Amino acid sequence: MPAQTITSSKPKVLIITTGGTIASVNGKPMIDGPALVQAVPTLKEYAEIEVMVFSKIGSSQMTPGHWLRLGKSINEYLQKDKDLAGIVITHGTDTMEETAFFLNLTIQSQKPVVLVGSMRSSNEISADGPANLLNAVRVVIDQQATGQGVLVVLNEHIGAARNIFKTHNRNVHTFHSPELGYLGFVDPDAIKFYQKVIHPHTHQSEFDLSDMDQLPVVEIVQDFTGFDESILKYFLNKGIDGLIIQTFAGGRMSAGMRKGLIKATEKQLPIVVTSSVANGRIIGQLPAEVPAIFASDLRGNKARILLMLALTQTRGLGEIKEIFERY
Ligand code: ASP
Repeated sequence: MPAQTITSSKPKVLIITTGGTIASVNGKPMIDGPALVQAVPTLKEYAEIEVMVFSKIGSSQMTPGHWLRLGKSINEYLQKDKDLAGIVITHGTDTMEETAFFLNLTIQSQKPVVLVGSMRSSNEISADGPANLLNAVRVVIDQQATGQGVLVVLNEHIGAARNIFKTHNRNVHTFHSPELGYLGFVDPDAIKFYQKVIHPHTHQSEFDLSDMDQLPVVEIVQDFTGFDESILKYFLNKGIDGLIIQTFAGGRMSAGMRKGLIKATEKQLPIVVTSSVANGRIIGQLPAEVPAIFASDLRGNKARILLMLALTQTRGLGEIKEIFERY
């Protein structure tokens, strides 16, 4: 009797582990990838799981270099292994929204990619990691998740990478997109999607990582009452590629920020102005002399990511503005 190759009828899911509280004991990310998966035996009922250990760091230690390497790895895996149903990435919650948004703009595939984390370490009472990991796998193998861009799944809520952000320092229900809501929910009996993503993402995006060795350097300056323009001089003179100004609602800014930006004109530095206020598009009047555009409804950390990627395509403010209107 020839040996039978037992092919699993279950979908194949790659779990890429990066660290974070979900892989932590007493707050230290030390559980290695395979152990994290072995701790949730129920996973095997849903999918054939492969594990790739990418890093073992808290997500506050993530850098644009990590994003670039992770995005390239994911594109390679999805390109090479056509049997993959999708990818789950375990990640810290501190910068999860950033990694998710970067991947949302750079993964060249319609297959589901889900980021998952936890707010409690594995040793804490009612640790949320195992259930979140199981739910992430359940979402990634569900047909409804295809073509919805990169997703964030925690506490049975499914969020879109572009809109979701961390809102609570401790609570297990920390990821919200207050005005734009969730795409769907992980119910005990089924995955239920109620919304679709409308902004272009993943396979619809023009940002191609394949020839990128490093990302443009974009930094963020927070405006505040009594801001001193000399702070801006530091950023304008350090040779960065772009700058995000996070200021008050409506693009209103402190006198020091305004003075500093007006002097910035000779630097020809692409500047994007966003608001510290959590919700809604920023609209208003920028000083005519200031070479800047508004960031739509993106907050500072995500506006930075979009500007980094926009600068791989153009340095023209008009083209950058068009990119911000589209993504
Ligand atoms: N407390 C964070 C977490 O939930 C730590 C981190 O982001 O790595 O993962």
